[in-house]
Amino acid sequence: MLTACTKAGKTICLGNNQRKEVLLSLRENEEFVCPVCGEDVVLKLGDQRIFHFAHKRAGTCIELFDGETENHLEGKLQLYHWLMNQKIPAILEYYDRGIQQRPDIMFMYQGKKYALEYQCSPIPEHIFSKRTHSYLQNGYTPLWIISNQHLPFRKSNIASLTNFHYLFLRTSEMGNLYIPAYCPEKRLFHFIDSIIPYSVKNAFAHHSFHRLERMSLQQLLAPAFTFNKLSITKWEAVVNQFKLHWGLNNGARSNQFLHELYNREMNLFLLPAEIGLPVPHSLFIQTSTVVWQSYLFFDVLIGKKLGDFITVNEITYFIKKRIRRKEITIRQLPQLDKVPYMDAILDYLFLLERLGILTKLTETTFQLKQKILLPRSNREKEEMWQSFHQKIKAFSRNNK
Ligand SMILES: [Zn+2]
Repeated sequence: MLTACTKAGKTICLGNNQRKEVLLSLRENEEFVCPVCGEDVVLKLGDQRIFHFAHKRAGTCIELFDGETENHLEGKLQLYHWLMNQKIPAILEYYDRGIQQRPDIMFMYQGKKYALEYQCSPIPEHIFSKRTHSYLQNGYTPLWIISNQHLPFRKSNIASLTNFHYLFLRTSEMGNLYIPAYCPEKRLFHFIDSIIPYSVKNAFAHHSFHRLERMSLQQLLAPAFTFNKLSITKWEAVVNQFKLHWGLNNGARSNQFLHELYNREMNLFLLPAEIGLPVPHSLFIQTSTVVWQSYLFFDVLIGKKLGDFITVNEITYFIKKRIRRKEITIRQLPQLDKVPYMDAILDYLFLLERLGILTKLTETTFQLKQKILLPRSNREKEEMWQSFHQKIKAFSRNNK
């Protein structure tokens, strides 16, 4: 850790580039304690690591600062200096006794109090959520930044994201959803945005990189993203691959969804083209798009006749039922006030409207204009997909 107290209660912060001689003489004359547990700590002034404090006796403190990696110390120091250079009032390792939490950096910006956490080690989801909740309850805006070491990605427009990564998802003032990461070695921010998952773990996403020196705090809190248009052909390719992998998987027989398909005498590979489409807010739902869009089809659309009404209320009822039965899982996103998963459903209804399946009558009522048909053979499927592609092309052209 970088902040400790003297026995007289004075706070000593190592974030201000003090010279070694100054710190050596301070160490000669003072004894230090941990601000959290009050136990003795020593000031380490070696050449190998960043100057820091360490507990004399291990394992007594609630904060596990002694296990801090160099990456963590370095990252939080850099972010602290970056804020100070922008004249933003910030305190390194500020200990809030009331809630017994110690964000890496507490800072004030535009009248708001922020708790910045630069996270290098994986922590259990429930601890992450508890800390975040406690910040929100006590007037802090949490700002979790993940270490880039935990951010593997395969291709430029695809990201493999676990539940842990999604904990870092935050929303900008403009409503953009993004995961901020930071690399102290390269002094680089890495943002992941426009996340559209096609399976529980994999998503199309947009990556952007920003040098620390060229970024302002405002840009970290409200990044401007350029929306990348997702190609439907690329989307279909990965979804088909996903279906194939899933359908051939040995565990498939025990899967609730595949079981339901089987009972309905349906085939995963003969689902209509209108099921499993990318929609902007689908990341709110952890369950794959193919699955939740199929459920919506089974529960609501399949039983409707041309001209019948479809209400958002009715859909909400069935979605909630599926959630209760654990057939649909909503993503855990602790930094968001609530997870507006119905936004994903509405995105989908609007897409069906553009595809000519539904007509929107009011904000909450739609009418069935054209039935979604189930292909009965591969040939029928091919024909349906072709006409579907023509529709997609047509409205992409109209959107330009
Ligand atoms: Zn302690």
